[in-house]
Amino acid sequence: MKIVLFGPPGVGKGTYASSLKTIYNLAHISTGDLFRENIKHQTELGKKAKAFIDAGKLVPDEITISMLKYRISADDTKKGFMLDGFPRTIPQAEALDTLIDVDAVLSFEAAEQTILKRVEGRRICRKCGMIYHTKNKPPLEEGVCDTCGGEVYQREDERRDVFEMRIKAYNEQTRPLIGYYDKKNILYRIDANTDMNNPEFHVIDDCRKILDKYLRNYNRDSTNVEEIKDKK
Ligand code: AMP
Repeated sequence: MKIVLFGPPGVGKGTYASSLKTIYNLAHISTGDLFRENIKHQTELGKKAKAFIDAGKLVPDEITISMLKYRISADDTKKGFMLDGFPRTIPQAEALDTLIDVDAVLSFEAAEQTILKRVEGRRICRKCGMIYHTKNKPPLEEGVCDTCGGEVYQREDERRDVFEMRIKAYNEQTRPLIGYYDKKNILYRIDANTDMNNPEFHVIDDCRKILDKYLRNYNRDSTNVEEIKDKK
């Protein structure tokens, strides 16, 4: 099963991916995480991507597509994977179509104000990537990760000014993908306005209703595994 987690920055794709990864045992491929890893290790790729990311802009397609292509050829993708943050432009979606058949695109939708509130309080562990929120899910000790003791910080690109640029990039370059996938009949809209700590939270249940159906088909048709190999 190959799925795309789609939505504006800050809607919670990374958080939902963590839950879905546990439920479905799928590899989680986040292009944002891959760039951050490369920046941390000061690779050539990281150096090229950094200025774009710091400015809230998209990294050029050429760089992003070749990074993604390499990542999806790894062994852990054989049983299927979730793409988080890719594709973000029409050329990226077209390139993806030449590599794999996407089964479903889950489009997470939330009001801009809800997203801004979420992002303002969002904090992340520099070491293990665990996600926190100053109000909804603070670490036990301020600035220290409960899981690994790493530093919990606010991402540079989640500061208000940069974040607004990212929303602009989303509206101009990424939003058109909704139409792209809708035409292919694989787009599923999911209301992501409710926060995870709210008892009414239903995002993961809604995802499961869609993905369970795909998983049943996937298991039935074992040739899918071969198809992935052939396409890669
Ligand atoms: P994310 O963590 O997915 O929000 O990504 C953080 C930043 O990485 C984005 O604001 C972009 O600058 C860059 N980035 C991540 N994925 C892509 C992509 N598919 N295309 C271009 N830039 C990307």
